[in-house]
Amino acid sequence: MIAEIVCFSPLGLPKSFMVDIRYPIYPQNRLLDRVAMKVKSAGFGFCTVCGKASYFIVKGESLRESCHCVLCGSSNRQRQLAYVICKVSQLLTGRKAASLRHLAETTELAIYNTEANGSLHEAFRGAKSYHCSEYFGPERSSGEIINGVRHEDLMALSFADSIFDLVISADVLEHVPDPYRAHKEIYRVLKSNGRHIFTVPFYQTEFLDEHRTRMAPNGSITYLMEPEYHSDPLRPEGALVHTVFSLEMLVKLAGIGFRTNLWHLYKPHYGILGPNAIVFEAIKQ
Ligand SMILES: [Zn+2]
Repeated sequence: MIAEIVCFSPLGLPKSFMVDIRYPIYPQNRLLDRVAMKVKSAGFGFCTVCGKASYFIVKGESLRESCHCVLCGSSNRQRQLAYVICKVSQLLTGRKAASLRHLAETTELAIYNTEANGSLHEAFRGAKSYHCSEYFGPERSSGEIINGVRHEDLMALSFADSIFDLVISADVLEHVPDPYRAHKEIYRVLKSNGRHIFTVPFYQTEFLDEHRTRMAPNGSITYLMEPEYHSDPLRPEGALVHTVFSLEMLVKLAGIGFRTNLWHLYKPHYGILGPNAIVFEAIKQ
């Protein structure tokens, strides 16, 4: 796991040498977070999705799902992903990109986005080797095209082995009934040293995943907890949450063959703030 720390001590040593690092991470709202919630804005900054100087508006009670860029509509969480994608891409290619829009114009990396809508998709769609998909239900087969959009079941992808440099998923895996089967499939389609860069709901203070449902071999779902749904542009009823993840996820990913970095970000000048700005970078070993 890595944490991005940019501060330096008076001795010139990175502050990471001066502070205790511990797990679990006990989330705390900082002063800036509280101000942003109160004034309903995270102020001006640079958007890591559209690559423009912008203004970030807070709506509702969640900083993670809010702080929308007034130019491209990206949320705080989407800019977190964009930031890590740009950093990882620089590591892989040696070329700098400050935003997804810029990255899409220049990159030759083979990228698969598990969504085909939203601001990340809009920024990526011009990229040279870009694939995207949506999930249209169990009656469809992976690889089928529905109204111009590719259908993929993450638990049974139609792609060949080892073809992508980057796979991107933005709060998707919690909606997959067997998320680790999906991680195995993502591992299969990634090239060696390729990355799955993703966000999921993650308990920073816990150790075990929270299983909210159980799926029988015939596909029927048993609810183990009160059903919870997240808003979804393709489903008016919302998308059912099967799992909320925790430290157990990193161990299970290691069992599949990933080495996973946890990026814990705090970058208010990019409209990235709040106590739970966490992005995962699972590297195929
Ligand atoms: Zn933007």
